[in-house]
Amino acid sequence: MNSVKQAPGYYRYTIGDLELVAVNDGYADRPVEGYVKNVPTAEVEAFTTEKLYMPKSSVRVPYTSLVVRDGDKTILIDTSNGDMGPPTTGNWMDNFKAAGFDPERVNNVIFTHLHPDHINGYRLKDGTCMFPNAEVMIPEPEWEFWMDDGKMAGVPEDKQFAFKNVRRVFSPIANDITLFGPEKEVVSGITSVPAYGHTPGQMALAITSGNERLMVMADVTNHPGVFLRNPEWHVLFDMDPETAIKTRHRMADLAASERMQVSFFHAPFPSTGYIEREGDGYCLVPVQWS
Ligand SMILES: [Zn+2]
Repeated sequence: MNSVKQAPGYYRYTIGDLELVAVNDGYADRPVEGYVKNVPTAEVEAFTTEKLYMPKSSVRVPYTSLVVRDGDKTILIDTSNGDMGPPTTGNWMDNFKAAGFDPERVNNVIFTHLHPDHINGYRLKDGTCMFPNAEVMIPEPEWEFWMDDGKMAGVPEDKQFAFKNVRRVFSPIANDITLFGPEKEVVSGITSVPAYGHTPGQMALAITSGNERLMVMADVTNHPGVFLRNPEWHVLFDMDPETAIKTRHRMADLAASERMQVSFFHAPFPSTGYIEREGDGYCLVPVQWS
């Protein structure tokens, strides 16, 4: 496939009085082989090619962060890959600036969890902090897990990268980080909702303004096309797959019952829509472009 140049990847929408801006960071092509741990590769590949029209042998997983504008405050939820992602990423900061934002004027950066694709945009490979004036906010159980030296020592050396990366990104500001628990108002209008399983302390975030509410689903799925339709499938990246399945059902049921708008970090751009029940699972109904 040839590569085509797009217009800057950002999309504005509203929840009540809040302006939300989805900012894209490209995608990764993941090999189908090994992508779902409890289903034969041929069955996964039949699904991704026949139902999702994906190329043979790979699953395309997009990255999109969300910015919330509340009056003159700018709140960023997850920072994407920075300069450490696959070569099909890396335009995030250009897109963010094209949307009119200045990284020095971000007030809060809230992280849903501490996997590299969500945090590396905070600090570049050379150590530069991209949001020097922002209050950094991290789920407490997530921080406790990744910063636990005993937990790091308990995994084989080649699996320690994610632990070391959390230290690389956050150690210089460790004393200034604001930790938050479940069911807490993190900033005005944004409340944490436990979404454990993908990682030990992942939090979804409910954004409420007036009568409107949107659930930031973080990595409740690695791709809604695959894992809303097959909620029992274990994606390679879910650290506790059984808990992740329960979380996926609970969050998808909640969104479907309340007809609540959702956004995902990994979903086709602009990464927002609604969740309908379908067969034994669910499907994502994209928003109408506005
Ligand atoms: Zn992720």
